Amino acid sequence: MLKLKRNDYCWCGSKKKLKKCHIDFMDTLQHLHSKGYDTPSLSLIKTDKDIAGIKKSSTLTHQLLDELNTIIKPGITTNEINTWVHEETIKRGAIPAPLHYKGFPKSICTSINDVICHGIPDDTILKEGDIVNVDITCIIDGYFGDSCRMYSVGKISTSAQKLIDVTKECLDLAIKSVKPLQPVNVIGEAIEKHAHKHNYSVVECFGGHGVGNAFHEEPFIFHYKRSDKQMIMVPGMVFTIEPMINEGGYDCNILDDDWTAVTKDGSLSAQWEHTILVTETGAEVLT
Ligand SMILES: [Zn+2]
Repeated sequence: MLKLKRNDYCWCGSKKKLKKCHIDFMDTLQHLHSKGYDTPSLSLIKTDKDIAGIKKSSTLTHQLLDELNTIIKPGITTNEINTWVHEETIKRGAIPAPLHYKGFPKSICTSINDVICHGIPDDTILKEGDIVNVDITCIIDGYFGDSCRMYSVGKISTSAQKLIDVTKECLDLAIKSVKPLQPVNVIGEAIEKHAHKHNYSVVECFGGHGVGNAFHEEPFIFHYKRSDKQMIMVPGMVFTIEPMINEGGYDCNILDDDWTAVTKDGSLSAQWEHTILVTETGAEVLT
């Protein structure tokens, strides 16, 4: 909870006293807190310096994902994609966050077809008709920018294309739902509503997360509807939204490598992710 007195400087970085700045906002936040909602600690509100740093790493993540459009094609292995991203990340003065994170052996995640997330690059050759997710997180000066996208390998089926498109729409609707003084619950509601409209399921065993000064921070972002009272969004918070949507059921299995998550029923899975900043009016996409 943001604990400030009227004469303290406002948390927002305006250098004004709270009573001359976000006093009404703070009153509403305290009211929501008293109603049982979680509220962010000051450490989750990024400073202008933090935001500038996160924007820098997020921009590189965005550029690398853009450039993969010309690299991913039938015949390439996920190891080759990993090597390209790793070398470009280093060349441009950044560090790939996934490498050695809790023992993860590679610099990116590559998740093909029924792999939901956290696929480990290997010698698997991408073939015509595959869909693959590439998840990149760059670190520059200690700041993290996290994003993932779907790529189609050659010509893909119309059903795979629809899953990719609807999953992207889920992310876009979720980003639109972000508003200060709303609980993060609205994000999962927006995603679930759209996915269910298309008879898809929403993966529940993974979620989005606070990010920026570390790879994973509070709050946890659920991608499905929940009735508990979660954290209230405040300008300056940075987190990822990264819905994983399945053609079949939402159940997942983790493979023996302890990382790769696959759909239990073998159905296709898609995911899109952005790192976003909560603003005074909504959300700014940083990646
Ligand atoms: Zn303020």
